[in-house]
Amino acid sequence: MVKFLDLLKINLAHEAEIQEALNQVLLNGWYIRGKFHDEFEQKFAEYCGTSRCVGVANGLDALILIFKGFKELGLLKDGDEVIVQANTYIASIISITASGLVPVFVEPDEETYNLSVENVKKAITSKTKAILAVHLYGQLTPMKELKELAEEKGLLLVEDCAQSHGAMDERGLKAGNLSDAAAFSFYPGKNMGALGDAGAVTTSNESLADMVKTMGNYGSQKKYFNEVQGVNSRLDEIQAAVLLVKLKYIDQENAVRRRIAKRYLTEIKNPHLILPTSQPDSLDHVFHVFVIRTKNRKELIEFTDAQGIQTLIHYPIPFHKQGAYQEYSSLQLPITERIHEEILSIPISPVMEEAEVDEVISVLNEYQPG
Ligand SMILES: *Cc1c(COP(=O)(O)O)cnc(C)c1O
Repeated sequence: MVKFLDLLKINLAHEAEIQEALNQVLLNGWYIRGKFHDEFEQKFAEYCGTSRCVGVANGLDALILIFKGFKELGLLKDGDEVIVQANTYIASIISITASGLVPVFVEPDEETYNLSVENVKKAITSKTKAILAVHLYGQLTPMKELKELAEEKGLLLVEDCAQSHGAMDERGLKAGNLSDAAAFSFYPGKNMGALGDAGAVTTSNESLADMVKTMGNYGSQKKYFNEVQGVNSRLDEIQAAVLLVKLKYIDQENAVRRRIAKRYLTEIKNPHLILPTSQPDSLDHVFHVFVIRTKNRKELIEFTDAQGIQTLIHYPIPFHKQGAYQEYSSLQLPITERIHEEILSIPISPVMEEAEVDEVISVLNEYQPG
């Protein structure tokens, strides 16, 4: 049986260091926004290449605090439009609506599942004030071109990096440093996962970093003085200490994911399956998930299940067919809908054994639609 993702194994790979980190937090006697938190902010900013990182409670909060932070700074206001790809995870969309902004949905590029500059261009109106680029599945959006477009049109550009820790473009710039501000999630199943919820904002905009930091702590910079109506969204010491361990290994672990992806890309040869279009050896994809496509997904899942290969769908239902966003149910998004009907994620992780990769490859090569 090949598990989709073995979280225990992923964390046990660093058992001694994680145990030591947890013990140090306990003995420090200071549990929120302490020394591990500060060290993590500094090291993660350095890693991404931004001047600042602000730890928050989770990835959704990171996105919301970016949008609300820009509102507090007077750069966005209620009702402003934010362009986003329609096939993203629901959190990206919730962050826009929860911030009093209006999402404008564009179809993704059907090969990368990400925003294309052309589709964004077509969706820009006089109300558009920002673009949210989600580096879905771990692959970078074409940010150089998107940044040029955003600058030309005077739009804010925000990245959702929840799935793309460490992805690097051809200029050597990393996810989190390709826009005005970026949101990270360290949910346990992400490429860089904590032992619970955690998130961060990276940016080189000092005013925004200060605002996010203030807003995440009840709107307070100085204890008991509240400048803005904030929330409680802080990164705790336990998660920060664990993340400092994980940060040491993220590049190594992404390299293992890429190596597995390269084997899948070169060794899965089945005309009934569409594989991701990523340049082998390019660093712009960190394969948070490895997504294949087929016309007969139900049949393929029955086959892989029977052969003991666990799979998942990222994601089975598009946002406009969800109860939460019924007002968008009549939107025509044929590409997004087709993607949701045909995609399937197969196992990939830094702790997969070579024999498991062999098994996935041979099972997928054996698959024949009935
Ligand atoms: C996981 C995820 C989020 C939200 O992160 P949480 O830490 O779960 O709040 C946002 N966007 C995308 C694309 C994600 O995959």
